[in-house]
Amino acid sequence: MHDLVIRGATVVDGTGAPARTTDVAVDDGVIVAVDEKAGAARREIDGDGLHLLPGWVDIHTHYDGQVTWDPDLSPSSWHGATTVVMGNCGVGFAPVRPDGHGFLIELMEGVEDIPGTALYEGIDWQWETFGEYLDALERMPRAIDVVAQVPHAALRAYVMGERAHEDPDDNEIEQLAKLTEEALHAGAVGFTTSRTILHRSKHGFVPGTSAAPAELLAIADAVRRAGHGIVEIVSDNAFRDPERQWMVEVARRTGGTVTYALAQEPWDAHSYRQALADAEQLHAEGLNLVPQVSCRPTGMLFGLQSSLHPFITHPTYQTIAHLPAAKKAEELRRPEVRAELLAEKPGTTDMIAIALMSRWDQMFPLGDPPDYEPAPETSVAAVAASTGRQPEEVALDLLLERDGTALLFAPLASYVESNHEAIREMITHPRTVLGLSDGGAHCGLICDASMPTYLLTHWVRDRTRGPRLPIEQVVSLQTSRTARSYGLTDRGTIEPGMRADLNLVDLDGLRLHMPEMVYDLPAGGRRLVQHVDGYVGTFVAGVQTLANGELTGERPGRLVRAGR
Ligand SMILES: [Zn+2]
Repeated sequence: MHDLVIRGATVVDGTGAPARTTDVAVDDGVIVAVDEKAGAARREIDGDGLHLLPGWVDIHTHYDGQVTWDPDLSPSSWHGATTVVMGNCGVGFAPVRPDGHGFLIELMEGVEDIPGTALYEGIDWQWETFGEYLDALERMPRAIDVVAQVPHAALRAYVMGERAHEDPDDNEIEQLAKLTEEALHAGAVGFTTSRTILHRSKHGFVPGTSAAPAELLAIADAVRRAGHGIVEIVSDNAFRDPERQWMVEVARRTGGTVTYALAQEPWDAHSYRQALADAEQLHAEGLNLVPQVSCRPTGMLFGLQSSLHPFITHPTYQTIAHLPAAKKAEELRRPEVRAELLAEKPGTTDMIAIALMSRWDQMFPLGDPPDYEPAPETSVAAVAASTGRQPEEVALDLLLERDGTALLFAPLASYVESNHEAIREMITHPRTVLGLSDGGAHCGLICDASMPTYLLTHWVRDRTRGPRLPIEQVVSLQTSRTARSYGLTDRGTIEPGMRADLNLVDLDGLRLHMPEMVYDLPAGGRRLVQHVDGYVGTFVAGVQTLANGELTGERPGRLVRAGR
């Protein structure tokens, strides 16, 4: 008698093999049979007409704070994620000295747009070392599995204190390397660092942003000594020398994977091809420099409740910024307020912010259902041109829709040609890995934890502006490919002996809702979330955590310690 049998679903097993209709049997949290006729079970589920897939493995999230107070890890858990990797982009909360909490919170708030008040209220600092952080995570039952990485900025703050933004001396480099090794031994899956000028807090760039190769190579040697460890990097110039040179050397020294964020650059639309070709070439030499890519453009969502939109720094807007969305909309509809606002300019000198707020050809109504591959003629710039209005007027009218809760989709990158063809090239390339959902982060501006769902709704089923992709391929990309790239060998496929992390999906009924702003973080902090219909069941180690879109309250998830 099995614990669980799901009968007659269309099984897409995550290996890339053709979908087939079969039974799947589970005992003790592990898949024991993938068979046309599995024996009886204590619980049997009729999968007829449904698809059964491995649980999603999302390697790029920022749940480092939320993971300490929220056992559910929504919205990722609503979208079929059964394993999430956090600690990306060099930021996180361990190791930390007792007087260093505020600094790491402010860093996370500045870089990842997670409300500092929520982090102050939500985190119960039961740790100082990285190992103690993992112990604290392990004590908490949770819906899905979490995997941690050790972030460079926290290491720097721990070792160098107030000098975290400066260059470490030899002794400090040795400390950074030693603590990295300790964290990996404790179970971190990797080390992460930020090299981008886009990631800033009120303290400046992320500590380590301009770290010299000597420091990074010392850390690479620590990774090799530990015996395992991914190195994750977010950089503005990852595949160009001189940045590329030390990254290749890190890959050589660790013998493992170095993964970095890759997107189509607005200023150099085809440079990603150089990165892909380079990854291919290095792979042939036995080096894994793996571009991490996403299945839709990283999309800023501009709305009257968001942390950025075209009018957010305008003096007139500032006077109503504290109001709820509907009230703001009401005010902004008053002719005199509207006229005043539209006569103003942004009240900031931050050139990056000004640029982001006025890319009218890269702003589109998101709509419902949300459209992440909108036609170029629907951009704010195009509508303004075709109707003889100013783009500001068009943008304002769109923001006022739905009682002030409508959203504008403003792709940051990978939408240079106003379609997803560059993305298709990147995600189907044999040397890339899917990531960059940033689950748990950018709470006031981005909600991409739904990216795994989008693989099915858009890439398999709905796409009209270019070719779709076979379900077998996209499922393998977000399951076995992501899991293997992070050394998680016990999950990611539906095969005997693998963990029973499963998604039972109604492919026809799968529907992404419009993202919405909710105020449910600790201290009433806000975050964008996105609901979804069509996940009939999610199972973590054979235990059902999600039933028809609702979390069941079961907590089979745990901390996964790498290298054990
Ligand atoms: Zn990130």
